[in-house]
Amino acid sequence: MGMIIQGATGDWEVVIGLEVHAQVTSNAKLFSGAATKYGAEQNTQVSFVDAAMPGMLPVINEMAVEQAVRTGLGLKAKINKYSVFDRKNYFYADLPQGYQISQFLQPIVGEGILTIDLKDGESRDIGITRLHLEQDAGKSIHDQHPTMTLVDLNRSGVALMEIVSEPDMRSPEEAAAYVKKLRSIVRYLGTCDGNMDEGSMRADVNVSVRRPGDELGTRCEMKNINSIRFIQQSIIYEANRQVDILEAGGTIAQETRLYDSVKGETRTMRSKEEAHDYQYFPDPDLLPLQFDDAFVEKIKADLPELPDEKKARFVTELGLKPYDAGVLVSEKETADFFEAVAEGRDAKMSANWVTGELFGNLNRTSKSLSNSPVSAEELGALIDLIKDGTISNRIAKEVFEEMFDTGKSASDIVEEKGLKQVSDTGAIEAAIDDVIAANPDKLEEYRGGKDKLLGFFMGQVMKATGGKANPGVVNQLLKPKLDG
Ligand code: ADP
Ligand code: MG
Repeated sequence: MGMIIQGATGDWEVVIGLEVHAQVTSNAKLFSGAATKYGAEQNTQVSFVDAAMPGMLPVINEMAVEQAVRTGLGLKAKINKYSVFDRKNYFYADLPQGYQISQFLQPIVGEGILTIDLKDGESRDIGITRLHLEQDAGKSIHDQHPTMTLVDLNRSGVALMEIVSEPDMRSPEEAAAYVKKLRSIVRYLGTCDGNMDEGSMRADVNVSVRRPGDELGTRCEMKNINSIRFIQQSIIYEANRQVDILEAGGTIAQETRLYDSVKGETRTMRSKEEAHDYQYFPDPDLLPLQFDDAFVEKIKADLPELPDEKKARFVTELGLKPYDAGVLVSEKETADFFEAVAEGRDAKMSANWVTGELFGNLNRTSKSLSNSPVSAEELGALIDLIKDGTISNRIAKEVFEEMFDTGKSASDIVEEKGLKQVSDTGAIEAAIDDVIAANPDKLEEYRGGKDKLLGFFMGQVMKATGGKANPGVVNQLLKPKLDG
């Protein structure tokens, strides 16, 4: 499973740990009531607190606390009923306070677990180190004025959850699976919208290499990567860069690097010596954050069924293959759609239709489930027509294409096009007789021992009936006639 790089001097194993920043879904910021809508006009969502006007005091947003606890529960993590907000001091134009309020030694959430789903239905547990709440900074805009940098404070003070993993991942695929799973969980929970292209989720990617089985090597950290593809590419580049250095007898310097997705390479931002000394200390404007068991229990009672549990249920109760179940639960919307189709119907058949024909057509037309031309009810009705013998599975695929392209119902299409399956033995027998009469040579070969020709006759009868003959009935009637 792990990524092994073969050097001239032997194998190297890749080790990855991720720090993901996830924007808390909330109408207000972490310590102010300002709005947080994505794409709002610059500097229109900034309170005096976010602009760090003198004398302004932060007030904790209870919703953000609830969301952090919810996420912690979703990661099966230890919830800390006592946590502390610290000031992380540094100077930057888009940080008007001169410090970021974060949690350092006592985060709101401790150790947890995230199960990643790998190809071929396998899964692996990745340790979660912690989750803490912190403020986002504003944004410096360097490309709108020839000599000046502009600052947009809309993001200043927005609540983020920083979710830190253990260095448990061993390949770019595992890192991708981790981010996908984390995104899936926060979306199920409704605690972060997971939209990486809008900056709602971004990752700091820590990479090191070592001889298999050795102690951890020195890591480099690549900041703020906001696409799963770039996370994977940056790991491949960075791991190979480190191996080249080590193979040449060099050592890795711990540093923060930048991933340039255009050039596909990483380069130094700052070395360990240049690392900030943040002078963390508890923020005197904020009391320690404390809540009781009842607060946690209330959130727990309200948790939705999460992807892992849903997958397990689909496998054990509905008999789906783990791989198919995994595909269906990855987005809650897909799981809900599938369940609406499968309600009172054959689950495996429903799963095949959703992951096969439906996904295939959505892909083909670059549509998503939310604007699918075929609703769950309509797909269910189509499956019912197969089950009750009105149409064959083959005809159903044609009907589905038409449903997808025109938005018509299955029964209307079957009616209009006269696609009803023929189970009437008289009509089928007549077709069989015609086919046999038209192929005397094939009949002779068959009777001479060439059993395989049964398939040929079967095909001819289906063709003669426009694919509408009930294959079961054809099967029953054909063989006795061929055998004479
Ligand atoms: P910092 O807070 O300075 O960034 P941490 O020790 O909290 O450092 O680690 C941050 C991240 O780096 C974690 O996700 C952790 O799993 C990862 N990490 C730590 N050591 C290594 C290593 N040797 N190789 C890869 N990742 C590592
Ligand atoms: Mg870090």
